[in-house]
Order: sequence, then C-alpha cells, then structure tokens
Amino acid sequence: MWKCKECGDSINPPSDICTICGKPTAIYSNIVFASEDEPELKNRFSKCEAEYQNTGKKHYCDELIKFLEENISVSINMRPESLINILSDPRIRYVNLHDNIRAKAIENLDSRIIAKRLMVDSVFGIDGDKINYGALNLGTIGLISYGKCCVFLKNEEISNRVSFLEENSFSYVKGSWPSINLSIPYGIRALWHTVAILTLVKHHKEFLSSKLNKEVISNMILFSEVNRKSDRYIEAQICPPIILSTIDKVLYYETEIPPEMARLVNSYYKSKTSIKKKDLIKLCASIDEEYLGDLLSFESKIKKLDIEFEVVEIASKESSL
Ligand SMILES: [Zn+2]
Repeated sequence: MWKCKECGDSINPPSDICTICGKPTAIYSNIVFASEDEPELKNRFSKCEAEYQNTGKKHYCDELIKFLEENISVSINMRPESLINILSDPRIRYVNLHDNIRAKAIENLDSRIIAKRLMVDSVFGIDGDKINYGALNLGTIGLISYGKCCVFLKNEEISNRVSFLEENSFSYVKGSWPSINLSIPYGIRALWHTVAILTLVKHHKEFLSSKLNKEVISNMILFSEVNRKSDRYIEAQICPPIILSTIDKVLYYETEIPPEMARLVNSYYKSKTSIKKKDLIKLCASIDEEYLGDLLSFESKIKKLDIEFEVVEIASKESSL
C-alpha cells in the first residue's frame, strides 16, 4: 500500500525510514504519526468492544464497523471560485494557507492566524504545512462555513495518503494568546483502515443510546452550522495533490435559494426537464445573480467532466419555521 520512494519496496506499516534500503521513504509524516498511534487507538477500541459485549451488543458493534467501512468518504468544502479554478485545468491543485502565503496570494493576513496554523500543523510533523484539511463525511453537505461546494474525493485516490484526527485539530489548542499551547492525547489518530474504529470509539455512547440509520449516523459524525466553533467532525489530513482527477462528486448548496428552485436546477443538470437554458437563467437571475454566475460556470465545466454534481435543497432558516 505504501511504497519507499527510494527503492520502491512496499512499506507496511508506513515509516519514515525504509526497512529494506535504510533510506528516507518520503511517506508523509502525518501518515507515519497516525500509524505509530495505532496501538493506542486499538486499546481504546478494545474497551468499547468490551462495553458492547457486556451489554449483549457485540454483534451491533461488528455491524457498525462494517457499515462505517462501507460508507466512509472524505470531503473538503471550498468556495465556488476555488473549485471552478481546479475544474478548469487538470494540472491545477488545491492550495492551503501556506501555499497562498508562499505565493503572496493573500494581503494583510493576521500573523496570529498564521502562527496558530503553524502550531496546529506541527501536530502532523515535518510535512504539516503541506497538508490539505478536510473531514470524514458519510454524505452530508460538509463543513459549510468553509465554502458552498462540498467536494468529495475518490476513495481509491486518497486512501493511502489521508490521516484522521478525532476532532478538529484547532480544538486541541488551549489558552489564550500569547500563552497558547497544544496537547494531543494518544489514540486519537487513524488511517483509512482504522478510521471506522476511531469513529466508533468517538461516538460509541451515542451509538448505543440512539436509534440509528444512515442519516442519523452521518449527522452525528459531521455536524456543521455557519459558526465554525460549533462544528463537530473527524478531521481529515490529505497529502497533496488534490486535483481534478481526485474529485468524485460535488454537492453545492445555497441557503437563500428556495428548495423548488434547487429542484428545478437539479433536474436541468440531470437533463430530466424540458426547461430551456434561457428560462432557467431568467428564473435564477430573479433570485440571486451570484448563484446564477456560479451555476453557469459549473455547468460549462462539469457537464464535460465525469463528476457527479448536485444542487442540495436546504430550506432557508425563515422558510423552515
Ligand atoms: Zn527503500
């Protein structure tokens, strides 16, 4: 699954120095750290398993693990402009804060934000500043405060270059500026093959006490509102590059758009309606010109690409009351 960059041999478990040739493997440090944390994670899982066993629900635990393994995926929420940029050229990769700083692409950045980001990135070792952050997602619209486009990545493309942390890495920063510090407990990291275990360990009490179906489980694992501070999710750290060929599916949402409108746009995208483009443009423009701009950009790009695209219907807060 993991390979040494120097000699090409398979390295399992992933490590920074090759056991065959003795040279650096070039496997990203977040992957190696998560692998080293595996025994602690398995310890925590054994305790949960025992709890299920004691309540006569061992089979339930096995079923949950199987369900999670079959349904996991990783998403990154981004702004429409960023996504359109990636879709426009197969060589363009998604960039993180440090890439933008190196490219001097952002003006007047708050140095405290950069310092805090660097501190959090250090949790993942020497390659921390190269990582792209996302979330474990079983099909929700993702971390909506980060962007209207929830971009799901292809499992097969990222499974050996993603690590996970039980919570958002920022939530482990304690104290207030300038005396902030970071404390990462053991057993809270995972790789693709252990993330189902991490999910169960994190949510086992809720799983035991709730009536579950896919929607309930998905919303338990990823909870997001407009305020980032209340987001609850299992963070994913994805090694670059994230490019066009890494993208599997896009969910686009807009809170201000009436659900009927979203349904109409969806039907249009899926060619299930006889509505003409100019009529759709007129309808969208009467509601929100920015929305129209995004949709037309996506239409011209996505229809030519093999990417699933869906406009998500979400009733606005007012209309849902
Ligand atoms: Zn080697």
